[in-house]
Amino acid sequence: MINLILFGPPGSGKGTQAAHLVEKFGLTHISTGDLFRYELGNNTPLGQEAKKYMDKGELVPDSVTISMLENKMNMTPNPKGYILDGFPRTLAQAKALDAILQGRDTKVTHLLALDVDDEEIVKRLLERGKTSNRADDANEEVIRKRIVEYNAKTSPVFDYYDKSGVSKKIEGVGSVEEISTRLAAALV
Ligand code: AMP
Repeated sequence: MINLILFGPPGSGKGTQAAHLVEKFGLTHISTGDLFRYELGNNTPLGQEAKKYMDKGELVPDSVTISMLENKMNMTPNPKGYILDGFPRTLAQAKALDAILQGRDTKVTHLLALDVDDEEIVKRLLERGKTSNRADDANEEVIRKRIVEYNAKTSPVFDYYDKSGVSKKIEGVGSVEEISTRLAAALV
């Protein structure tokens, strides 16, 4: 069973690559960013709460995020495993995920981190912002805040899983196919 954390800063290509891996490995893709945007689009109380943070480029509080993720996993039990994209983003989320998976007699098997430098990220997100219809991609200040959040709160998750030997960096610059091949090679 594969339970992959597809890791890396915003704009590193996680969503694009997740779609390829879903096809190749038949895994269930869960993106917490997509889940929040769905709630936001439907103007639910959860969406309204998340919007306060997303618009500023800040992380949504752990308690809200973890319960949303757990609900989604409960709705999509899949013996083939998961690709988690954009989760966990804090150590508290990582520990909660471990407990959820342990309750199902499984664990995180891989963390693959797409490695892309900060200036390339800013460039990519500003470009994506022209068409993505995402408020948080349209503003350079918000993009930079998301990178600060990533470096401060999210990057320690790499080291946390490195202790159990599952973390690996993957060069995140190249064509979609090249990066997809690198990821697939690291998954076997
Ligand atoms: P993303 O689409 O993954 O870039 O996420 C967009 C925004 O959703 C982030 O900037 C956060 O505000 C929020 N978000 C998504 N996933 C998480 C998470 N695991 N923890 C906290 N906030 C999150």
